[in-house]
Amino acid sequence: MNINIAKFGGTSVADLDAMQHCARIIAATPETRVIVVSASAGVTNHLVALANTLLSKEQISDVIEQIRHIEYGILASLGNPKELQEKLDSLLAALHETAMHEELLHRDDLKDSLLSFGERMSSLLFTEVLCRLGVNAENFDIRNVLKTDSTFGEAIPNLDSIKQLSEQFLLPELTSKVLVTQGFVGSDEQGRTTTLGRGGSDFTAALLAEALSAKSCEIWTDVVGVYTTDPRITKAARPLPELSFEEAAEMANFGAKVLHPATMEPALRKNINVFVGSSREPEKGGTWIVRDCENEPPYRAITRRKQQVMVTVKTPKMMHAQGFLQQVFTIIAKHSLSVDLVTTSEIAVSFTLDNPANSVAEKLNRETLQELGEFCEVVIEENYDLVTVVGNNMHSAAGVSSKIFSSVRDYNLRMICYGANPHNMSFLVHQDDSTEIVKELHRCLFEV
Ligand code: ADP
Ligand code: ASP
Ligand code: MG
Repeated sequence: MNINIAKFGGTSVADLDAMQHCARIIAATPETRVIVVSASAGVTNHLVALANTLLSKEQISDVIEQIRHIEYGILASLGNPKELQEKLDSLLAALHETAMHEELLHRDDLKDSLLSFGERMSSLLFTEVLCRLGVNAENFDIRNVLKTDSTFGEAIPNLDSIKQLSEQFLLPELTSKVLVTQGFVGSDEQGRTTTLGRGGSDFTAALLAEALSAKSCEIWTDVVGVYTTDPRITKAARPLPELSFEEAAEMANFGAKVLHPATMEPALRKNINVFVGSSREPEKGGTWIVRDCENEPPYRAITRRKQQVMVTVKTPKMMHAQGFLQQVFTIIAKHSLSVDLVTTSEIAVSFTLDNPANSVAEKLNRETLQELGEFCEVVIEENYDLVTVVGNNMHSAAGVSSKIFSSVRDYNLRMICYGANPHNMSFLVHQDDSTEIVKELHRCLFEV
C-alpha cells in the first residue's frame, strides 16, 4: 500500500472552517491513511501556562474555561452532537483534575499528561469533521504506538517499538479506514503519557511515516511551504519549491519553526519525501523536501533561533591544562546538551546553549551551570539570537562567506561559526539586532 501521512498544525485545526479545509485535502487523496493533528491554536499555550505557573484555583478554572471555549466553539459549529460532547466533557473533567493536582508544578509526568489534552480533544473533533464529509475515519490513541523514554517534556522515541506497534495496530486498519491521531504525545514503558517537545506533531508524523514505510509525509500548516526565511520577519521571503533533506534538517535545527527540529531524521533514514504546504491554500503548492534536489545553491535560506545564552568558563588553571576542556564538555555531554558555537582562548572557553523558556533544555542548562561553577568561573550572557545561513558547499565555494560578511559588517557579531558540515554558517548576535540582520542578509543573498 502506498501510504501518505498528513499532519495538520494548530491553526489548521483552529475552528470548524479551518478543519473543513483539511478534511477536503484528505478526501481528495486516497493514499492519505493516517492523520496527525496538533491541538487547536492557542490550546497548548494555555496548557503550558497551567503546567508551569503557580496559579490560584480561580485562575486555573479561568484558563480551563478559555480552553473549553475553544473546544466548545468547534462543537457548537458541529451542532453539539451528544456523544461527542460527552467525550469532550470527560476529557475536560480529567484535564481539570490534573490541573488541580497539588504536585503538578513539581512532577514532570503530570505536566506531560496535562499537555496531552489539547491533541486528545482536537483529534476527537477532527474525526467527526472527517466522518461528516463521508470519510471512514476513526480516532486512534497514539499512546498505544508512540513509545518513548521517560524524558518528560522532550521524550525520545523508541523506534523499534514504534515500528512493531504501528505494524501491529495501525497497519491492519488502514485498508478500510483513515485513522486520526494525536501529534506531540507518546507514552513511556510504564504507560505514562509523554510529549515530544513544543511543535512535536511534525516529528510524530515523520516517525509514523518511517514506522509504516510511507511513501510521503505531508506537513500542512499556515504558510505555502518552507520560505527563504520566516515570512513574519520579512515580506520579501519567498517559498522554496524544493529543498534537500540536509538543508531542511539544518533549517529545522537552527530555528525554522515550520518544522520541529527532529522532523527530518526519520525522513532521511527512510528516504521519505516530505511536503510542506498551506491547508488554506493547497492549490498554491508548497515545498517538496527530497534526497536529491535539482540544484544546490550556495544560499538557500536564513533562520533565526531566539533565546540563546552564551556561557564563558574561565580558569587560570586552563593554561596548558588540556584536561579543562574535557572536564567542561563531559558535564555538557552528561546533560545531553547540544552546543552550537564554541570559541576557545588560552584561559577561557565560550559556548552557546539553546535556552527556550520552560523547556527541558532550560532546566538542564541550570544544572550544567551549577556543576561548572563548582570548578571554574562561569559568566553567563543572555539576550542573544542565533542567525544561520543555510546552503551548500559553504566551506569550499569561493566568495560565499565574504558575501555574507559584507552584508553584516555593520553589526556586532558576538560569535561566528562555520558548521561542522558544509550546510551552515551561524552568528550569535544581540537579540535587538537579529531582525535587521536577517532582513539585511535576505536582501543581499536573495533579493538582488
Ligand atoms: P503549525 O501550527 O502548523 O505547526 P507553526 O507555527 O509551528 O505551524 O509553523 C509555521 C510558522 O513557522 C509560520 O507561520 C512561520 O511564521 C514560521 N516559520 C519560521 N521560519 C519559516 C520558514 N523558513 N518558512 C516558513 N515558515 C517559517
Ligand atoms: N500542540 C503542540 C505545541 O503547540 C505540538 C504541535 O503543535 O506540534 O507545541
Ligand atoms: Mg509547528
